Amino acid sequence: MSRIYIFDTTLRDGEQSPGCSMTKSEKLRMAGRLVDLGVDLLEAGFPIASEGDFDAVDTISRHFPWAQIVALARACTLDVERAARALTHARRPRIHTFIATSEIHLKYKLRKTRQQVLDDAVAAVELARSYTDDVEFSAEDATRTDLDYLKQVSQAVVEAGARTVNLPDTVGYSVPDEYAALIREIVKLLGDRAVVSVHCHDDLGLAVANSLAAVTAGARQVECTINGIGERAGNAALEEVVMAIKTRHDKLPFETAIQTEKLYGASQALAQCISFGPQPNKAIVGDNAFAHLAGIHQDGFLKEKTTYEIMDPHTVGVPETKLVLGKHSGRHALKKRTEDLGFDLSPDELNELYREFTRLADNKKGVRNEEISALVREVIGKGVFAETAG
Ligand code: MN
Repeated sequence: MSRIYIFDTTLRDGEQSPGCSMTKSEKLRMAGRLVDLGVDLLEAGFPIASEGDFDAVDTISRHFPWAQIVALARACTLDVERAARALTHARRPRIHTFIATSEIHLKYKLRKTRQQVLDDAVAAVELARSYTDDVEFSAEDATRTDLDYLKQVSQAVVEAGARTVNLPDTVGYSVPDEYAALIREIVKLLGDRAVVSVHCHDDLGLAVANSLAAVTAGARQVECTINGIGERAGNAALEEVVMAIKTRHDKLPFETAIQTEKLYGASQALAQCISFGPQPNKAIVGDNAFAHLAGIHQDGFLKEKTTYEIMDPHTVGVPETKLVLGKHSGRHALKKRTEDLGFDLSPDELNELYREFTRLADNKKGVRNEEISALVREVIGKGVFAETAG
């Protein structure tokens, strides 16, 4: 069975997107969650970018010395040295150095020739190898790079000592078949000399699909983030990649080390650190991911869960199935829900709540758990009832 390495970049690619900046203590808290979740590699920051990023990598390395901590560096001396310094306390440090390889980036951004970029890549990898055996090289914008040139760069960085070669779909432009073909070429070229890694962006909503296609084509490391946060439309969502592999093991015969029952908790923890949570219909961790509202669905679900549920919510750590209550839901369903939400109401209290609930439900498509909790508290606020649990 092939093992897939989960490279988490929530604290680097994720953090460098709007609304997602985190303080050092928030990063440390998230790092604890990620280590506990079982990520194989934890990219903690881009040390040259700011003092804060340097500090985050340094602090996380000190707190989790045995975790495989990664620091990002452009392919230049200053960056690589700064990354190495930030990783001083990591026992298993990885330096991740990158340079763009596509014509568009060479011409307009770097203003360098192919030979110059190749030389920079090799020099950065060699320098990084003087600090650690574990060096990853990324060919930024790999999916829009000339294939022969990409092969030449990949070969050269591996000869210079890179053990992981990452081929990012930096701008989220690729489609699964095309990306798989690219990965297959590079896997064939590098054989067992390096792990081929993928890093996909979601500009066309294909980040997870592309990552899974790449895994099928021989990639063994997937770079991803909790809740899919990251530049622009975000990165491949860690929880989706992991649960697709777990749920469709028949089609994706791979293993990860992720403890899936901790996914929901990690998602919620991230939402508390940044300015937004997953959208309600987000796969795996969204509020509605395990919600059933339509009458026919509710009926089927109540008779046999597997009629409409392909994953048991407990396997991803969702506390209870979020059957959404609506105006057709009965008193019994409401009672059960208040219990699941931690309340213990007497028959009189339930009657009062039910009156309020039907009034609210009449004007809505469904009443969410948060709204039910708020309603209970509102009723409690009248001084009539006592909350027995939070
Ligand atoms: Mn990225």
